[in-house]
Amino acid sequence: MKAFILDRDGVINKGGNINRKSEFQLLPGVTEAIKALNDMGFGVFVASNQGGVGLGFMTKSALRSINGYMVTLIREEGGDIVEARYCTHKPHAGCSCRKPKPGMLLELIKKYDIDRKASFMVGDRDTDIMAGRSAGVHTVFIGDNLPSGIDPDYVFSGLLEAVNGLRDRSIIHA
Ligand SMILES: [Mg+2]
Ligand SMILES: [Zn+2]
Repeated sequence: MKAFILDRDGVINKGGNINRKSEFQLLPGVTEAIKALNDMGFGVFVASNQGGVGLGFMTKSALRSINGYMVTLIREEGGDIVEARYCTHKPHAGCSCRKPKPGMLLELIKKYDIDRKASFMVGDRDTDIMAGRSAGVHTVFIGDNLPSGIDPDYVFSGLLEAVNGLRDRSIIHA
């Protein structure tokens, strides 16, 4: 399948450290963007660093509850997320899943037989772009402040702008 793998904080929801459900707020246009991707035949996935679990700021059960809340909010509006993966290890623990490492993306690519050439990693940090690049998918940076030293394939201000922009340029289509 062809896929969009989304970072979570700053792409799907307002960024910051989200340690409880009440702190989770979808960004405008996100469900519409996910729906449009679904309609074009893309599987939509999430790959997110949640080192707060490893650091003790958040329990695994709180993370599961936030994830369930996110999936439900999006589903209520007709969008579908196939699977969300989280790295819950501490920063610098040396795991292979914490972005910029591509571990979460590679697992998804293998499990769902994702076609890298037709797929995209979307994120608001340099580490997202590095992970996408290492996994061999196209990269989309979201935000106005592109960090120096990274070179994403595309830059947009938000997820909906990215989906619309890529579709308008016929880079993605049904
Ligand atoms: Mg982020
Ligand atoms: Zn990890």
